[in-house]
Amino acid sequence: MVVFGSGTVNGVGEQVQRLGASRVLLLSSPSGRAVGRMRQALRDLLVAEFAGAIPHTPVEVTERALRLVNEHAIDCLVAIGGGSTTGLAKALAVRTELPQVIVPTTYAGSEVTSVLGETEDGRKITRSGPQILPETVVYDVDLTLGLPVAVSVTSAVNAMAHAVEALYAPEVDPATEEKALEAITLIARALPVVAGSPTDAEARGDLLRAARLAGTCLETVGMGLHHKLCHTLGGSFDMPHAATHTVVLPHVMAYNAPAVPEVMLRVAEAMGTDDAARGVHDLVVGVEGPTSLCDLGMARSDLTRAAGLATAKPYPNPREPERQGVETLLVDAWQGRRPRPARLEER
Ligand code: NAD
Repeated sequence: MVVFGSGTVNGVGEQVQRLGASRVLLLSSPSGRAVGRMRQALRDLLVAEFAGAIPHTPVEVTERALRLVNEHAIDCLVAIGGGSTTGLAKALAVRTELPQVIVPTTYAGSEVTSVLGETEDGRKITRSGPQILPETVVYDVDLTLGLPVAVSVTSAVNAMAHAVEALYAPEVDPATEEKALEAITLIARALPVVAGSPTDAEARGDLLRAARLAGTCLETVGMGLHHKLCHTLGGSFDMPHAATHTVVLPHVMAYNAPAVPEVMLRVAEAMGTDDAARGVHDLVVGVEGPTSLCDLGMARSDLTRAAGLATAKPYPNPREPERQGVETLLVDAWQGRRPRPARLEER
């Protein structure tokens, strides 16, 4: 069940009851917003709260929240926040089979996927299954109006990455292609508007719609080198999720472009630019987003190990993720340079 609109958070209590539940654990992150509105919406359905969701879903955090589930005989999980909070709800759901109502406040798209990434002992482990897919998603554009521009930018490019990689997935179908291209068009158009006027409800609505479309693509088809690299950088080097996606995406697109020139042409058309990889880079620069892994705190000396880890067990990718080529790509991303023009012999 998906609800989309303005003020929809007020109906979350009804959604909980629709699932036949009455004892809610409310999940949020330490810097979470709109938790007060959620308390009002849940009224006496709210039994316990856990505000400790953090990025990359560490197993030890999940175990702490799990104790609350058991102590309070919880029968429904409600999460308000970004992908980190959604990840915690999924991690609890897979352990307890409890239903989830997710209220996303970023553009991560995790709320419509049956995939869960968790970290344990410095490694990101990804698993999927029907219990992980949230039963109900309540999108409320109002909750995104205050999302800081910097987070909006990186989160929207995270969504764009799902859409781009869907387009060259081996199992892509026409319906997924359509969703992916629509998401890319919406993001390219709405992100500069949001960067200039963050409370523009129409542009915010477009970004949230794009997030949902891109998340659906992520659910339908497998992801490639870009997601593998970002999982490696997040899981093994503790790099920030959405910002890392933002820096890496144009460079992976440039790496893959020679293998899928027609896909990149369609992405460029959807964005209204003439080169897809450079178009994404220029979009990010235009909205003052991050362009360099160095600026995000990555050590230059870690790039070789990162390339090794990301190419050891690669995801399907249109161009073979060859170790040296991937390291070169990472060096470009570390330096924050504009992506190289798409020519295979360069690498
Ligand atoms: P996040 O959830 O960590 O949120 C980023 C920051 O924005 C946090 O500080 C948060 O408190 C703040 N924030 C969120 N909404 C806000 C709002 N409306 N107003 C003000 N501040 C707000 O980051 P994210 O990028 O949304 O999610 C990243 C996590 O999601 C990662 O762990 C990633 O692996 C996971 N993810 C999973 C999937 C999947 O399908 N499994 C897909 C995408 C992302």
